[in-house]
Amino acid sequence: MGFLQGKRALITGIASERSIASGIAEAMHREGAQLAFTYQNEKLKSRVEKAAAEYGSNIVIPLDVTSDDQIAACFDELGKHWTDGFDILVHAIAYAPREAIAGQFLDGLTRENFGVAHDISAYSLAAMAKAARPQMKGRNGSILTLSYLGAERALAGYNVMGVAKASLEATVRYLAYNLGPEGTRVNAVSAGPIKTLAAAGIAGFRKILGHVEENAPLRRTVSIEQVGNVAAFLCSDLAAGVTGEITYVDSGYNILGMTGIDVE
Ligand code: NAD
Repeated sequence: MGFLQGKRALITGIASERSIASGIAEAMHREGAQLAFTYQNEKLKSRVEKAAAEYGSNIVIPLDVTSDDQIAACFDELGKHWTDGFDILVHAIAYAPREAIAGQFLDGLTRENFGVAHDISAYSLAAMAKAARPQMKGRNGSILTLSYLGAERALAGYNVMGVAKASLEATVRYLAYNLGPEGTRVNAVSAGPIKTLAAAGIAGFRKILGHVEENAPLRRTVSIEQVGNVAAFLCSDLAAGVTGEITYVDSGYNILGMTGIDVE
C-alpha cells in the first residue's frame, strides 16, 4: 500500500511532461493518492487532460491565479467532485516577465514587473490556501509549494523572481502558523535547477546546470522524480511533524559557501 493511500490531491502547474508538477503527480499517484488537476489556459488544457487521464482522473479545472473569480470557481468545482473535502494542495506556479529575469536586477525592474512576479508567484499561494481552507480543515491536510535558492542568495539573472520567492517562503511560514491549529501543514521544496519551460526563461540556464554538476556535493543536477518523491513524502502522514519548512532537493548545493575552489 502506498503512503498516500486514501489522500486526495489537487495539482497545479503542469505545463509539460518536464514540469516539476508532473514529477509530483507521478510520485503521488504511485503512492496511492487520487489526483485532480488545474490548467492555466486553453493552450495547456489538452496536455493537462492527457496527464489526468494517465492517472485515472477526470477532474481537470481551469485556473489562472491572476483571477479571483477563477480561484473561487476552482474550489467550487473541486467541491462538486470531492464533496467532503480534500487533503493535499500542490502549488507549482511562478511567473516573472522575461525582461525582469534577464540582465541585472535593476535593468528590468519596474513597478509592474515587481507586482506581476509577486502576484503570480507568491500571493497566489496565500490566495489558494485561503480558498481551499474550508475543504482542507481538520483532515491533517498538507499544502506544498516550490521555491528556489534565489529566495535567500543573490543569484545572477534570477532578480525579481528571487525577491518573489523570498515572499513565497515567508508566506509558507505564516500559513503554517495560521493553519497549524486546524491540522493543515504548509511546506516548500526548494529545488535545484531543472530544465522546464519556466526555467527556459532564465538567462544562462545551461551554464547554471553545468555549474551545479561541477560543484554540488552530489556532482549532479536533480530530476523531477527526485523532487516529486520528497514532495509526496512531505504531503504524507510520514511527515506529520513537519510544517513551515523549506526542504532542499538540490544535490546539496545550498550548503556551499564558496564554489570552484579545489584543494589537493
Ligand atoms: P513549468 O513551466 O513547467 O511550470 C510553471 C507553471 O506555472 C506552468 O504550469 C504555468 O502554467 C504555471 N503558471 C504561470 N502563470 C500562471 C498563472 N497566472 N495561473 C496559473 N498557473 C500559472 O516550470 P517548473 O520549473 O516546473 O515550475 C514549477 C515551480 O517550480 C515554479 O514555482 C518554479 O519557480 C519552481 N522551481 C523551478 C525550478 C527549476 O529550475 N525549474 C527550481 C526551483 C523551483
